Amino acid sequence: MPQQKRVRFKEDEQQQVKNLHHLTNGAVYGALLVVLGCGLLTNYLATRLPSALTVADLERSPHAFIAERAWASLKTLNDLGPKPAGSQANEVMAYEFLLKEVQRIDASKHDRQRLETDSQTVTGAFSISLLNQSMTSMYRNVQNLVVRLEGSEGRHALLLNCHFDTVASSPGASDDGASCAVMLEVLRVLSRRPVRTRHTVTFLFNGAEETMLQAAHGFITQHPWAGDVRAFLNLESSGSGGKEVLFQAGPHHPWLIEAYARAIRHPFAHTVGEEIFQHGLIPSDTDFRMFRDYGEVPGMDFAHIANGYRYHTRYDSMDFLSLDVLQRTGDNVLALARDLAECDELATSSDQLPIGETVFFDFIGLAFVHYSAASGRLINLAVAVLSLVVPLVCFARARFDDVFREVTFGLLGTVFGTIFSIIACTTIARQLDFVGKSMSWYTNTYLILGLYCCPALLSHCFVYLFLTTFYSNSKSNLTLGQITQARLVGVNVFWSAITLTTTAAGYRSGYIPMVLLGCSLASSTLNLLLNTSRSPRAWIYVHLACQIPALLWSTNFFNVLIQLFVPITGRFGGSRNPEVLISLLAAGGTLLCCSFLIPFIAQLRNMMNFTAKLSATIVLTLVLACLSPLGMPYRDESMATEPTPQRHYVTHTFRVFHDEYGLYKSSDSGYFFQEMDRNTRSTIEQYVVAAGEHLTPMRQMSSCQTELFCALPFYSLWHQIRFNNYWLPGPEPVYDNMVTMAYLGTEQLDPHTQRLLFSMEGSIQSSIVVGPKEGVQLVGWSLLDHVPPPAKFGDREGHFLFITHGLPGKAWNVTLDLRYDQPKATGELVDIVVTTKFWEYQHMHTADFEELLAKFPTWAHVVPSVAVVGVFPL
Ligand SMILES: [Zn+2]
Repeated sequence: MPQQKRVRFKEDEQQQVKNLHHLTNGAVYGALLVVLGCGLLTNYLATRLPSALTVADLERSPHAFIAERAWASLKTLNDLGPKPAGSQANEVMAYEFLLKEVQRIDASKHDRQRLETDSQTVTGAFSISLLNQSMTSMYRNVQNLVVRLEGSEGRHALLLNCHFDTVASSPGASDDGASCAVMLEVLRVLSRRPVRTRHTVTFLFNGAEETMLQAAHGFITQHPWAGDVRAFLNLESSGSGGKEVLFQAGPHHPWLIEAYARAIRHPFAHTVGEEIFQHGLIPSDTDFRMFRDYGEVPGMDFAHIANGYRYHTRYDSMDFLSLDVLQRTGDNVLALARDLAECDELATSSDQLPIGETVFFDFIGLAFVHYSAASGRLINLAVAVLSLVVPLVCFARARFDDVFREVTFGLLGTVFGTIFSIIACTTIARQLDFVGKSMSWYTNTYLILGLYCCPALLSHCFVYLFLTTFYSNSKSNLTLGQITQARLVGVNVFWSAITLTTTAAGYRSGYIPMVLLGCSLASSTLNLLLNTSRSPRAWIYVHLACQIPALLWSTNFFNVLIQLFVPITGRFGGSRNPEVLISLLAAGGTLLCCSFLIPFIAQLRNMMNFTAKLSATIVLTLVLACLSPLGMPYRDESMATEPTPQRHYVTHTFRVFHDEYGLYKSSDSGYFFQEMDRNTRSTIEQYVVAAGEHLTPMRQMSSCQTELFCALPFYSLWHQIRFNNYWLPGPEPVYDNMVTMAYLGTEQLDPHTQRLLFSMEGSIQSSIVVGPKEGVQLVGWSLLDHVPPPAKFGDREGHFLFITHGLPGKAWNVTLDLRYDQPKATGELVDIVVTTKFWEYQHMHTADFEELLAKFPTWAHVVPSVAVVGVFPL
């Protein structure tokens, strides 16, 4: 009997060898095409938007969000140009426009609605800590426009927040004008309904977000209506156009996600986004932080993330937005606001609300899934275990040794394939960077496929070839079909381990590999039910059919991550190699998309032919990336419909050094360049620095040895401390109305503590670094009730204070309390560096500065500013 069976196996094998080879020869290329096809489909789905409604649609849908009206509001905000806090455009023009719009809405509201408006001008301070560095943020006379649409029941309110200020040099159509336009339209629609919402809806148009979230702090800590807020929706942007993503919710309030699931027609939300953002991997922050930390209010954070290239540049304008973008976001925000404004939870006190974390995600924008983190752990565990157990049932009659060997083969193939693909990709990344070809994929992201995805795939193939030569068992009783199936179980072991490790480490993002395992489990279950184990053709079809959702899932992630991180490499500084980041993403993406297809590739009869073709693709892409214009990282609007500029910040700087009596000692001047990406220095040296001139890295400046924080015009602390900036000596700038910090005198508080008194004057944006000298400590000041820990730069520590002015204000007093053990002479207590920063200051630029700015290539987005730095030892 065993003899017979053995013979039948052999016959089967001959038959199946043929079948499998027959299938795989064409199927490998077919499968790769399917992967690419799924990638293109998910890319298409990611950019698909609903068509915009116009005023003509009002007859049919009188209470719908009308993108055309929001578009008209956005046009006014856009046409005002850059609106940094403190500028005329922000404090007067944008503010008055919003106020007028609200008055117009008030005049056209339904008789049963009640609308209240409040103009808040607010002053305050708080400390904020990021990347282990603390600073103090202070604002004076920044403005909020607050509108309240009263609910029928009680005072509990839902807050909607946008900001109308922008960074310098950007009209801020997407960041964040579009959100304000959406909110105006939501207010208009809600106010025209004949019935009031159950709860109040408060609309906050805030005028100072780009200056470290200050206006939101002013509202939530000081506005009389802030106490009524029970939940909020924050509308932001770190891109331009596309879909808004829900990237943070809660914290710990699952009912918000339930409302999202109920109300939203076009979902785009991922727990992994929340985990990426909250781990500080995105160099941005939002007002969400202020409402959560200072108001203790739960909420949801939305942002447009597509086309991050244009974020904070002159290209963040309406020219690159469409009405459809507003329609999609408007539909979602209106639906969600209406749902939340009616829900019970908004009126329930927070200690009676369900608490817990949620796992939530959409499936390629078509369906939204959410469950509690506890269920998530169970689901991950169940899928991880079942995806191993179910396929093994198919092997019940095979020899354990043989099966175990092939499962191990599949696992080792995936593990070593991953390790070698990481080695291969990062090696290419380092070489490309070394030869000065960094970021060749910045505009043409498809180059990543040839530069990194193909090498990753090739590494997997070589590992399989190697294992086939040295590990596979020629005496195995398994058919080729069974061998492939067993190796796929090995792939499942790999993903189960990843899922369980991620879950055990407390990350909710374990749902990403879990869905892949779920597809594999579906395939094994179907194969078991259909009893396809003896018919290789059938089980391959079932396997591939179940791979389609897996591929849609994985290519969607890969697309979103590339879309998110490629533009971020344009603003994450030059000290880290962006090639390595992108190569790792590509290696991970390749693994995610292809791991369940690689065991098939390994069964190719002519593997060498396939690897040769892959290698040729890699070489061709390398040539294109390094030698053709395709690999040129940046584009302006004349070179591409979607510009991808290089960012530059140039500050024309004047530095004045004083002696311990406050008298003038010396001064110098020059240009301060902030390094925004890996190619910044080479661009400046190639285009801007004239022959004979020399660019000095910030840390090598002589003032870095002697002065606190190098006496450089620090403004955005975190960027400037981490980035490698440059100095070029040059003539003096021209300026007016700078901020002054006049020393008024000293009070002896006790034998070891002195209080220094100053008067500050000037309503321009500024920063102050207070650096107590050795043996001295800053123990108190008039700015806050506590002194946050100092920031470190070089070998000095300093308390960094960032000051924003909205509307102009009067002079104000500052006191610093310094404690010391030994008595100190004048000049031995503290160093103070005061920087006045002028944004949007074109009318005062000198001819030299304009000449320097004009030298930048057209694909550069240059943000000019002027700064005066005063250095005082006291
Ligand atoms: Zn913003």
